[in-house]
Amino acid sequence: MYYTRFDTRFCEIILAGDEIGLSHLHLNTGEGKRSFEISDEWTRNDDYFSDTRHQIEEYLSGTRKNFDVRLNPKGTDFQKKVWTQLRTVPYGEVRTYKDIAEAIGNSDASRAVGMANSKNPIPLIIPCHRIIGTNGKLTGFAHGLAIKERIINHEKLMTLLNQLLSYYGKQGWWPAETHYEMMVGAVLAQNTTWKNVVKALDNFNGDLSPRLIKEISTTALAEIIRPSGYFNQKAIKLKALNDWYERYDFNIDKVRSVEDEKLRQELLTVHGVGRETADSIMTYAVGKPYFIIDTYTRRLFHRLGFDVPAHYEDFRNMIEKAIPRDLYLYNEFHALIVRHATEHCLKTPKCEGCPLETPKDIQGDGPSEVFCVKRI
Ligand code: SF4
Repeated sequence: MYYTRFDTRFCEIILAGDEIGLSHLHLNTGEGKRSFEISDEWTRNDDYFSDTRHQIEEYLSGTRKNFDVRLNPKGTDFQKKVWTQLRTVPYGEVRTYKDIAEAIGNSDASRAVGMANSKNPIPLIIPCHRIIGTNGKLTGFAHGLAIKERIINHEKLMTLLNQLLSYYGKQGWWPAETHYEMMVGAVLAQNTTWKNVVKALDNFNGDLSPRLIKEISTTALAEIIRPSGYFNQKAIKLKALNDWYERYDFNIDKVRSVEDEKLRQELLTVHGVGRETADSIMTYAVGKPYFIIDTYTRRLFHRLGFDVPAHYEDFRNMIEKAIPRDLYLYNEFHALIVRHATEHCLKTPKCEGCPLETPKDIQGDGPSEVFCVKRI
């Protein structure tokens, strides 16, 4: 037997197997019921598992849906039958224990299926995480419920992103000429539509700069940005943001040199910069990825059946734990959510033609490219 161990963005993973195939994959989360011993008789062999490791890394980065690995799980015939069935559940979808019991032709065996599921020695590759209770709850997971939720969300979010991307195409945000215009736009966009922000920005006649905002009076600034609404308050906020930027000599590279979390916390102390504005500035102007939670994100995720946390940071953390912290990915994902929420998933949704609508003739088990739970 050979083994290897390596860190991933989720947790440490230990692989073990022989010439026939992979027999163990341990998610070393430090939680759950599963413990794992590396036998003294096994030999560490990182090269032997390099392809499997590569496939796991691709899966966790969202670029791989299925694994092509020779498996050799040890178990009873019944367990092996269940594990083979688990491998037919598509990426991004979930099934119940009852579904699996029925699929293997033994509809009364839900409990036994649950037991076999919990004994799965090769999670992720044999996707036991895709099995949930009939009440929709995650139920148990040998490696802890936190990682089960994280893996399910990872698959759902990557599916959602790819679906929106293939329907709307690449968005290439933020729609601004300069980093400074992005920062100003993030403040102007508070409580208004982007159309009004554009009107306000147009009023600068191409002269928008930190120097201008520094020198102009608050009253004159308010008049320029009037189309964005709440213009008196926003003028004060822009002045405050400008004062903060001046501490970096209006130099975006100096801003970028600050450690991510320190910079975000600093921005949050600026008058008028809330979490959504701070994360828009961090992602689009500074180039440090933070997932932006806005009304559109909340509305869409709620309609897609996610368990949406009420608090901003909890929601952001839920998403950031599930998908890789990548600038391009966060940039596009947010832009696509905004596009979708303003074209289809409006307050009163236009579901006809929506790329996420579940066809009415599919009862819950639709293909992975559709998963809106809200049938209108
Ligand atoms: S089907 Fe309707 S509610 Fe669901 S995502 Fe599409 S527009 Fe929104």
